[in-house]
Amino acid sequence: MKCSKCGREIPDDSNYCPYCSSRVGGHWEEFQVEAEGLVAKVKQLLREGNVRRIVIRNPEGETLLEIPVTIGVIGALIAPYLAALGAIAALVSNCTIAVERRE
Ligand SMILES: [Zn+2]
Repeated sequence: MKCSKCGREIPDDSNYCPYCSSRVGGHWEEFQVEAEGLVAKVKQLLREGNVRRIVIRNPEGETLLEIPVTIGVIGALIAPYLAALGAIAALVSNCTIAVERRE
């Protein structure tokens, strides 16, 4: 992607431009979900297509799982993440999904 401030090409997963140090990451949204709706909600977010990163947190704010959303993850590589989500859903009663979206 290109830095929105200086226009130079920078890695897609950058949060800050290495050239001009401006913030370049997408914006974050958070959802509270019940454990049984966790997997379905993540699948829905992946289908929306403009998601860069999905972070699952427990009610104490600890990160349980981070999914870097790439083309590969949307395809075959999502299976292990869905298995991990299923395991998380069995452990917690509710959790927070933080989603970084592309601008
Ligand atoms: Zn820049």
